[in-house]
Amino acid sequence: MAALQCGTAFSCSGRCPATAGSRHRRFVMKRAEFSRAVKRTAFERSCGFCEAMGKVYGLGVGVRCNAPLMHRVEFDHYPIAAAAGGPGTLENCVAVCRTCHRWKTGHVDLPMMAKHKRVRDRYLGIKDDWISFPTNRKGPWKRALNGVTTRRPGQ
Ligand SMILES: [Zn+2]
Repeated sequence: MAALQCGTAFSCSGRCPATAGSRHRRFVMKRAEFSRAVKRTAFERSCGFCEAMGKVYGLGVGVRCNAPLMHRVEFDHYPIAAAAGGPGTLENCVAVCRTCHRWKTGHVDLPMMAKHKRVRDRYLGIKDDWISFPTNRKGPWKRALNGVTTRRPGQ
């Protein structure tokens, strides 16, 4: 497959080796970082106080954090997360304090990405072959009906 440019949509014929024969459409994307100009403007808009607001940042509905940003400011992709293709525009940029950014990353962004991966894995049939119990069918041990545990032959 030829190298794909960021932002190109492509679909495969169904014989593409990347996805085990399932038809799919994909959108190649790269995390859109904010430019310095966007960050500067977002910071000015914040008036120097954390712009994080509402539940996604661990605050009450409609409650704004307002922590002073004079020591450190971080920029978050909101409302559309970077991993979900959120653009690096001013409209999708919030100047936030470290605490709010961490909270959202840990409680909203990472779980969302993990879920995306799980859903995608299930769709593609990718699964772990892990051993849940040492005595289950895949494990190295077996327990006979009389309670005697022995090693499976060949394990
Ligand atoms: Zn904050």
